[in-house]
This record gives sequence, C-alpha cells and structure tokens, in this order.
Amino acid sequence: MDCLFCSIAAGDIPAKIIDSDDVSVAFLDIEPFQDGHTLVISRKHVTSVLDDDGELARISPMVTKVARRLVDSLGASGVNIMSNAGEVAGQSVHHLHIHVIPRYDREPGISAIRSTMPRRPIEEVAAIVTGDPHRK
Ligand code: AMP
Ligand code: ZN
Repeated sequence: MDCLFCSIAAGDIPAKIIDSDDVSVAFLDIEPFQDGHTLVISRKHVTSVLDDDGELARISPMVTKVARRLVDSLGASGVNIMSNAGEVAGQSVHHLHIHVIPRYDREPGISAIRSTMPRRPIEEVAAIVTGDPHRK
C-alpha cells in the first residue's frame, strides 16, 4: 500500500523520529504550527479515528509521554492534542495520527494554535527534544 506514514513507520522515508514503541511512532511535523509540533501514529495502518478498532487507545500512552516530554524539553506551558478525520476536517494524510502541539506563553489561546512567528529549524528542535546534540 502506498502510504506516507506507513513508509515513515517502516523507516523507508526519513523523519525526525523522537520516540517509538511496538505500536506507535512519534516524529516532528514537517510544517509545525508551533516548535515541537509532533505527530503520533499507529504502526498499524488505520485510516482515521473513524476507522479505528482500538489503535487510538493503544497509542495513547505515547501521546501522553510525548506531550510531557515536549513541555519539559522545550519549555512549553501546555499542549493542544488533535486528530483530523476526513477531508472535511482537514485530514490530508489518511493514516491515523494525533497532533501534539506544544503551546508557549508568547502565543496563548486556541485562535493562535498556528504560529505567525518564525519557527526554529526542525533539526534544532529534534536535538533539544531527543537530548542528542548531534541529532539531524
Ligand atoms: P492532517 O492534515 O491532520 O492529515 O495532518 C497531516 C500532517 O502531516 C500535516 O501537519 C503535515 O505537515 C504533516 N506531514 C506531511 N508529510 C510529512 C512528513 N514527510 N514528515 C512529517 N510530517 C509530515
Ligand atoms: Zn498507512
């Protein structure tokens, strides 16, 4: 099957992976709303939460773990957690994924979920979140 996120989970397409386990993979979003915007995906191909028979529950520990790690490592004050299901909801990649979006005091509020400020380079964010200064 030709699926971008299955390919990332399989290691066939590079991504800034910050954590993974048997059921999930977490990697930095390539077009971050805010610095550290992360996607948590199921290893199993599921189209969305509307086509889900338990993957959301299985990947939820990783969502929580990643949310805490982003807050601790990047100095965020909170997170937004979101999953788009269906094109009408803005879903563009049809493989279950949860957006974990760190939020910073400088841009508070739900209307400021997408930053208008310049983003830090994704390599710099990956190095901070993973604790590996050589992380590319
Ligand atoms: P959605 O619009 O909810 O389907 O979210 C898909 C997300 O995947 C968007 O925020 C994209 O920026 C992100 N994305 C697309 N391609 C990649 C990629 N190769 N690596 C990381 N994130 C990606
Ligand atoms: Zn897939």
